[in-house]
Amino acid sequence: MASPMPHIEASKLTIPDVITGHVAGLSALTNSSATLLPVHFPGTGESIASLQEDAAAQVNTAVSAARARFHSGEWSQCTTTEKQRVFRAAAQAIRNNAHELALQESLCAGLPFAHLASRQIPRAADNFDFFADYIGQLAGETYDQLHDYRTVVTRQPAGVAAIFTPWNACLALSSMQIASCIAFGNSCVLKPSEFAPLAVLQLVRLLESAGLPSGVVNIVNGRGSVTGAALATAEGVDRIALTGRGNTARKVMAAAAARLTPVHFELEGNSANIIFDDADLDRAIDGALLSAFGNSGQICIAGSRILVQKNIADRFIEAFVARTKDLQVGDPLDDLTEVGPMAFAQHQQKILNYFALAENTDATLLTGGRAMPELGSGYFVAPTIFKVADNRSPLCQEEIFGPVVTIQIFNNDEDAWTIANDSRFGLIGYCWTESLRRAQAFQQRVDAGTLWLNTPIARDLRAPFGGFKASGIGRDGPRQAADFFTEEKATIAALGQPAIRKMGLGKRTKKDDAHS
Ligand code: NAD
Repeated sequence: MASPMPHIEASKLTIPDVITGHVAGLSALTNSSATLLPVHFPGTGESIASLQEDAAAQVNTAVSAARARFHSGEWSQCTTTEKQRVFRAAAQAIRNNAHELALQESLCAGLPFAHLASRQIPRAADNFDFFADYIGQLAGETYDQLHDYRTVVTRQPAGVAAIFTPWNACLALSSMQIASCIAFGNSCVLKPSEFAPLAVLQLVRLLESAGLPSGVVNIVNGRGSVTGAALATAEGVDRIALTGRGNTARKVMAAAAARLTPVHFELEGNSANIIFDDADLDRAIDGALLSAFGNSGQICIAGSRILVQKNIADRFIEAFVARTKDLQVGDPLDDLTEVGPMAFAQHQQKILNYFALAENTDATLLTGGRAMPELGSGYFVAPTIFKVADNRSPLCQEEIFGPVVTIQIFNNDEDAWTIANDSRFGLIGYCWTESLRRAQAFQQRVDAGTLWLNTPIARDLRAPFGGFKASGIGRDGPRQAADFFTEEKATIAALGQPAIRKMGLGKRTKKDDAHS
């Protein structure tokens, strides 16, 4: 397809007219009766391709392909060394194709190319290297508490996983779930967001070129209500992992309940960023900007509820508003862009609706609060700050998922912990302080799966990641993935010939029993 966008032409990226799924044994031929969904470039709103939607029949074929590959043993029973070889080759292939992958992701979801190329795509490669290392260190367990017996605990892959991923970091998150799943020998069917189908498709091709047998990772495409719902209810799925919204998780969980399929959910947030009066204010401002507006604010880990202590509030707000007004908003393919468009038109509208709602609350608009038609027909929203008096405001209680932050002023430490926890979410807590006492209280008092102290966004892949409350069920992480994606099996073996209580020997006296 001839691209109307000069950057794409310059990059020599080829986008097919019709994007199809990737299922072992099925040729990627277009299906003339399938629904075609338009894929837009959010920077201009132009249509760049169509996405062929998979209905229940194709989803079931994909699950069968994954099951067949699983039962073939070609991957599920191959050696750790072979899995490590494939994972390391895949990581290298991702690095070699980083430019193309970042471009594909940016074109579909509108995320700033520079951020994708420098952070998210390298993370996708790191995920495979990380799990290659991890499976090389896995040890079994033995127990010998019973005299004459030895208990050995082994793990076997759970089977076939259904994986659902969102658009806001589709490749980074899909690669994490795929690596977590297939590292232990499972197969999967992945349904990426219909708004970010391109890079994930390329990822699977790279995995197969690195030696992954076809059928281990299959991709189905389409809307959540069609393809997603079919995958969530498909027979032959042993695990369900979803990264997305709470409402989606509720539907998927109801489907999983019918078969008692275990679920792992990574969900929403609207996380508190607490800035105390003894913080290094320059660093706190840098951190607050990055955590609020990084990834165009479309990020679950955003520190989008800023809580600032009263005696430094004026200084913080003045500097933070000035820097926010200076953010470079624009074409996501431009290397200098810091905040790109929203990923799709309805999402832009959802954020604009919050601005309309805010007019009827006590929120004071400090900057932004509008679309940006001066940037053309893309789905832009101006970086926005509201000063809010009450944490019960919907701006604080709901996930807005855009370049929008609220600032609240607190008086003392106790208020900070109370406001931070006054949320149905519990994904992240941020805190800026030079006080050890406050740092310790932060660690003990804030209810969130990840706490960032004097830093925005740093992640050690060995540590668990996930949310309290409505922010998720379960955790990402190597040990957590092993627990979720495998079944543990305890085998108890007799050492020698320990006595076996005898039954069926006819009528016996108490005296006989005492000797048996
Ligand atoms: P979403 O819930 O709309 O979609 C996620 C995936 O589920 C998509 O592939 C979608 O097509 C599919 N889906 C939607 N409805 C479905 C249904 N009824 N049945 C089955 N599948 C269905 O989320 P989104 O808008 O794509 O992503 C943004 C959300 O993801 C935000 O809420 C964000 O906080 C969350 N998120 C969380 C994390 C985390 O680690 N906690 C990371 C990234 C994004």
